[in-house]
Amino acid sequence: MKDPEILTVAPNIKLLHLHPPIPGYDKFIGPYLISGKKNALVDTGPSAAIPSLLYALNKINMDSKDIDYVVFTHIHIDHAGGAGDVARELPNARIVAHSRAHEHLINPIALWQASLKVLGDYAIKSGPIEPVPEDRIVDAANHMKLDLGNGLILEIYLTPGHSVHHLSLFDRAGGMLLAGEAAGVCINGVIRLATPPPFKLDVTMSSVDKLIELKPVKLCYSHFGCYNKALDRLELYKTKVLEWYEIITSAARTSNNPEQILKVLRDKDKDLDYLDNLDSDVYSRELSLIINSIRGIAGNSVG
Ligand SMILES: [Zn+2]
Repeated sequence: MKDPEILTVAPNIKLLHLHPPIPGYDKFIGPYLISGKKNALVDTGPSAAIPSLLYALNKINMDSKDIDYVVFTHIHIDHAGGAGDVARELPNARIVAHSRAHEHLINPIALWQASLKVLGDYAIKSGPIEPVPEDRIVDAANHMKLDLGNGLILEIYLTPGHSVHHLSLFDRAGGMLLAGEAAGVCINGVIRLATPPPFKLDVTMSSVDKLIELKPVKLCYSHFGCYNKALDRLELYKTKVLEWYEIITSAARTSNNPEQILKVLRDKDKDLDYLDNLDSDVYSRELSLIINSIRGIAGNSVG
């Protein structure tokens, strides 16, 4: 197993760059460790990434008993597939997630089946989703605050869009926004949409507006890393959502083939040329996620 890399992105926030044994998942799984007097992990990655996560904690002398919260931005398998594993391995951690994730955390069978259907082999390589004991779960509410001590407070905002059970976190004192996938993803510096089915334009846009109101300074993506000029990035994401929406819905009137629609999209959004410079495993990952984003926007009109 390749060693995880640990990046300090703010005095009290570390990005844990994990290397799960999943082809193409390089620079993709990056939980954040946020430390005041108490410690919170934001996302964990899938079950296959948990050995790498525990190794990373060990590397920075963080005792597994000292993680007080694990907050899931949402419960897709690449973020929360390891929920049951961390509930076992981090014995004092409360598992914080959107209330709509509650049932899935206790009984992840439907989540596993949906992951298999959408991700196929990636789901199998991500590993099984184990249940979380119900008494460990805290349902997140909008504006909930996690006080980590030393003046560090994590504010939770419900930001549905990428999924119905999505939330983002904000450290107001530091201006740090952990957006999850509410502001899309940023791969090799290029922002792209993350709009899988069921996509709703108004829900997605109003979540980004909520994040803009917070006036963050720095934006940390689940995929991948932290960047300055957070407000510019959020505005750019809104522009891009509208642009893709226009292109995809228009192309979907004459084609029900998502690969065909991607060709049209690539002609119009030259940022997608980043796809030309990826190794083949990362390219396959990106392609399947972009096709899924096209399916989200085009709705039932594509196959
Ligand atoms: Zn994700």
